Amino acid sequence: MKNDLISRKAIKEYINQSDLTNREKMTLHIAISNIPSTAAAPEVHGRWGEIYDPYGELEEWIHGECGRCSKEKSPYCPNCGARMDGGEEE
Ligand SMILES: [Zn+2]
Repeated sequence: MKNDLISRKAIKEYINQSDLTNREKMTLHIAISNIPSTAAAPEVHGRWGEIYDPYGELEEWIHGECGRCSKEKSPYCPNCGARMDGGEEE
């Protein structure tokens, strides 16, 4: 069985719309509420900072969180794997 992530809320809505008895629905709701969640690793977002040389020319990029410097503004930090999309939540 595929061990993917599903929505507790979606299952509860599905149960509510089913033709189970209220007692059965209650049993399922309790079970769903008590099943521990998996530790889904939250996606880390980051941002490249600009590093200028003494002449004011853009020299390279730095990920301030982990200190990794890079010559290119890659979509993911090669050191810590953060998604370098500016830190916005999706
Ligand atoms: Zn990093």
